[in-house]
Amino acid sequence: RPAFDVNAVRRDFPILSERVNGKQLVWLDNAATTHKPRQVIERISHFYEHENSNIHRAAHELAARATDAYEHAREVVRRFINAPDVNEVIFLRGTTEAINLVAKAWGGQHVGEGDEIIVSHLEHHANIVPWQQLAQAKGAKLRVIPVDDQGQVRLDEYQKLINDRTKIVSVAHVSNTLGTVVPVKQIVEIAKRRGITTVIDGAQSIAHTPVDVQDFGADFFVFSGHKIFGPTGIGVLWGRRAVLEDTPPWQGGGNMIADVTFEKTVFQPLPNTFEAGTGNIADAVGLGAALEYVERLGIENISQYEHSLVDYGMAQLGAIPGLRLIGTVPGKASVLSFVLDGYSTDEVGQVLNSEGIAVRTGHHCAQPILRRFGVETAVRPSLAFYNTFGEIDQLVAIIRRLASQRRSG
Ligand code: PMP
Repeated sequence: RPAFDVNAVRRDFPILSERVNGKQLVWLDNAATTHKPRQVIERISHFYEHENSNIHRAAHELAARATDAYEHAREVVRRFINAPDVNEVIFLRGTTEAINLVAKAWGGQHVGEGDEIIVSHLEHHANIVPWQQLAQAKGAKLRVIPVDDQGQVRLDEYQKLINDRTKIVSVAHVSNTLGTVVPVKQIVEIAKRRGITTVIDGAQSIAHTPVDVQDFGADFFVFSGHKIFGPTGIGVLWGRRAVLEDTPPWQGGGNMIADVTFEKTVFQPLPNTFEAGTGNIADAVGLGAALEYVERLGIENISQYEHSLVDYGMAQLGAIPGLRLIGTVPGKASVLSFVLDGYSTDEVGQVLNSEGIAVRTGHHCAQPILRRFGVETAVRPSLAFYNTFGEIDQLVAIIRRLASQRRSG
């Protein structure tokens, strides 16, 4: 087990001391959302206590402070994902809004009748529905890369799907249901050779594995702040400058304009083009603090520690009679989905909740991939760096007890 001072880290997260149903909270629902360290909570309070103002517009001290804080957060995002240009970083509500922006604005301009859009079978609904809507609006076709029985995207099938009508490929970096780490770099490379635009949904990778948008080579990379220890309601669209400049503005309004008459509007350059109206300033600042927090721990250290937790959890759960793991690609990130013979996933979730353990049960906003594995719902424990081997033992002990009660009863 690699050295990682998990107990020190846990002290930064006030909510981890919470008691639930008389038990100490065990938070294994990190794929849904993550908790916030004191550093993020305090940064947001500091903003409202000392800096709060609208940005860019007013010529007074607090406007300058708020603008500086907001633009500092943008620079932290740039550094965190290794983007070449800070003006390529656009603050939006989250992954869902970012994918919708790309589908509606870029897709609205560049996808036409008979064109094709490729996603994979393991996508979250947020990376399916906007493309389906685009396809319907344009008379285009949505094509789906199958996954194998372990839950990996099939590159051989992907190559067969690509053709001269393919306009865009949009895939998750990490599956929220299976934990599969998708070979996005290879997927992008194959698309790029054909001049096809690419999108990576980083919602589930951002907190768990290093991200380098220049190394990936994609045109767009999107993620949500709340999945990486930042606030809800703030997220990021990164786009390559040339591609963003070839994307029409999505929403119109204040902040994104240079000049308006009733005849015509001249838009602001990037990033303001895509930030119409007053954004979520305080939470962007909070997201910056979250990324700085993760930087201090080191994403490589986090990734290594989490992989040892995932491997341990997979081995322990996998040994329980009547338990079926969903998603078994080696080296997977964070997610330990399963079903248990004799119990509905809701029943398992309720028993775990009564013991203070939070997991998600249900379809995880990814119905196609669960159905690919022959189930409608799964139990989904999902990890972050503040989880411990002891917490996994607690989870496993309860599931083992349920499994043995079923066999004797
Ligand atoms: N994509 C993936 C892979 C996700 O896991 C999620 C969140 N569950 C989303 C997209 C949507 O993110 P949000 O709800 O924050 O917009």
